[in-house]
Amino acid sequence: MDFSLIVPCFNEEENLRVFIPTAISYFEALDAMCELVFVDDGSSDATYQVIQDQIEAYEKRTESAQKEDGRRLAFQVVGFSRNFGKEAAMYAGLERATGDVLGFIDADMQQDPAVAVRMFRLLRDDPSYDCVAAVQEQRRESLPMRAFKRVFYRMFRDMSDLDVVEGASDFRVFTRQVAAALLSMREHFRFSKGMFSWVGFNTRVITYQVHDRYAGESKWTMRSLLGYAWTGVVAFSTWPLRAAMVLGVILALLALVLFGIDVFDNVVLHDGVSTERILVYVVLLMSGIQMVVLGVFGEYLARAYIESKHRPLYIVRRSYQIPSR
Ligand code: UDP
Ligand code: MG
Repeated sequence: MDFSLIVPCFNEEENLRVFIPTAISYFEALDAMCELVFVDDGSSDATYQVIQDQIEAYEKRTESAQKEDGRRLAFQVVGFSRNFGKEAAMYAGLERATGDVLGFIDADMQQDPAVAVRMFRLLRDDPSYDCVAAVQEQRRESLPMRAFKRVFYRMFRDMSDLDVVEGASDFRVFTRQVAAALLSMREHFRFSKGMFSWVGFNTRVITYQVHDRYAGESKWTMRSLLGYAWTGVVAFSTWPLRAAMVLGVILALLALVLFGIDVFDNVVLHDGVSTERILVYVVLLMSGIQMVVLGVFGEYLARAYIESKHRPLYIVRRSYQIPSR
């Protein structure tokens, strides 16, 4: 197998009716043996059925040609027992894909399969690279969202010491070595952007024109996006823990200085210091800060606890492949 394209799908029945024939048409024009790996991430619509129908239609259409020239395109389909999230779906795809070169693409037609094929060619023609990452030419996002992402990437880079490609999503094509490295990271809290940087390798960045979703809406909400950003920070940096410690040191020093001033006022200047109100403020402030610090500790502890269970990243409900092995 030359090229495996992994497609995580969550409630994408309408998009897949367009995506699959489009991807197939590009693959048919490619002088390589290709594989499409669909991961149905616990969809509640007919995603799994649509994938099956489209593959059947392809098989029927190419039956005679396959008999003559042999097979050029293979399929794998996996359906999860519930929604485990895109990161888990990507992992399941990586585990199954058999290509020498692999790639991720969304099912919603925002990312053109033609670009994936272009990335495959780039990688095949230039062995000095291990990965090709596609960055959106023009971001089609609101100004606050762009600002948020920009600030996040800058902070993430500083905190994690990882050289993440700004604006690069998981729309990438990479070698089997990169895939093996990603698979070796079996962690539960996954943050692909950080992982691609963490494993290293030579990455070539290209730009592509992003399209609007063909149908349906993005599954991201502001809340889930913030949660994902936090997962990335906690997964790749212990900076928040260090910040908590620094804060503690600063506050302790401050308290010492204030105490010194008080003593000086009392002993040297013989001033009576009214401390009641200040005390209330200080107690409030200190307990607030302590809660925040404990919360940060708790976040790491909770995640370490969940990781320590070594639960599977996903559960498969059904799957098949064509040709069957
Ligand atoms: N996706 C998934 N599981 C999820 C959410 C999304 O497999 O829980 C898939 C989705 O079907 C799509 C891709 O991940 O193929 C990107 O999702 P989406 O379009 O919602 O994200 P965006 O393009 O807005 O970043
Ligand atoms: Mg999308």
